[in-house]
Amino acid sequence: MPGVFQFSPDGIVDEARRAQDLGLQAILLFGVPREKDEQASGAYAENGVVQKTLRAIKSKCPEVVAITDVCLCQYMSHGHCGVARIDGDHFHVLNDETVDLLVKTALSHAHAGADMVAPSDMMDGRIGAIREALDANGFDQTGIMSYAAKFASVFYGPFRDAAESPPKFGDRRSYQMDCANAEEALREVALDVEEGADILMIKPALPYIDILWRVRERFAKPTAVYHVSGEYAMVKAAAEKGFLDERAAVLEIMTSLKRAGADIIVTYWARELAEWVRE
Ligand SMILES: [Zn+2]
Repeated sequence: MPGVFQFSPDGIVDEARRAQDLGLQAILLFGVPREKDEQASGAYAENGVVQKTLRAIKSKCPEVVAITDVCLCQYMSHGHCGVARIDGDHFHVLNDETVDLLVKTALSHAHAGADMVAPSDMMDGRIGAIREALDANGFDQTGIMSYAAKFASVFYGPFRDAAESPPKFGDRRSYQMDCANAEEALREVALDVEEGADILMIKPALPYIDILWRVRERFAKPTAVYHVSGEYAMVKAAAEKGFLDERAAVLEIMTSLKRAGADIIVTYWARELAEWVRE
């Protein structure tokens, strides 16, 4: 996508500094490892790409709030968010085995300096398990931003290519939510609140703006929304064709997300937006 790049761990440090200069308070890291395997071992390796990057950020610009995406899909050779078992034409993701690896991953991020971990996998019980493990290891100040309501969406397409993690078989509908089901979203969010999530996230953004509003109203917790790659790509493509004024469109979209209750917006436009808001 235009304006979207992968960075080396060193490159991220410069990027984090630029973000800080613009007044952005936090960055969200996604690892793209060189090697993938069936156990996602790169996700929790001491010298994994995210762990290395965290140590670099924390030694050179410690004030930047570093949030890490905690999932296994980028590290799994099959591209699913968890440990998968394949029986002939069918596969399923093993919830509890996956949670164990997510806990390991979150802990290794905390050890490397993460201020907050953001589990994006949608397995059951992972928030409580991660909270317990963080507390037991002296990381009671490390926050959890939960992808509490993550819908199975066509709008993730461009990111999956950028993160090199499209599933090799099947799809993610067995663990992500159905677009038509609002009540399920509220139930999933309630579980994450009970298990100790500090920030609740809704993903994607515009097609789920009603969910954002309902979650903010019902749970009165800091609420984040993730404006995803496909939503970004639509505006970019329209602007390139001269159909839309990019800046005006982005400001209107972001304002509407704030209006609907977003305390935090995750967006590929963060840098430009910070500049435009200043102007
Ligand atoms: Zn994933």
